[in-house]
Amino acid sequence: MFFCKHCGREAEEADIFCRKCGTKLAKTKATPDEYTVILNELTGLVEDVTKNIRSELISQVSEIEEGIKKNGWTKQRFYAEVEEIRSRLNDFVHD
Ligand SMILES: [Zn+2]
Repeated sequence: MFFCKHCGREAEEADIFCRKCGTKLAKTKATPDEYTVILNELTGLVEDVTKNIRSELISQVSEIEEGIKKNGWTKQRFYAEVEEIRSRLNDFVHD
């Protein structure tokens, strides 16, 4: 395995460009230091978490839309759901 010299991301043997930063990859094997390995792992996990949270929130918004447009939700239910998702979103946005 080898790593992008620019951002440190692990690359596949077949990759020509880094999947993260787009830098052209040099085909020399380099061993990153232990901190870089761990930091890369954390970065990868954060990216996965971000993707998962995003898709979860998107489907929550769709549920609210379906609820009010098709499933006969009451106004109270609609606003309760909106408030819940809005506060989750605000936690991410303001900080
Ligand atoms: Zn890179």
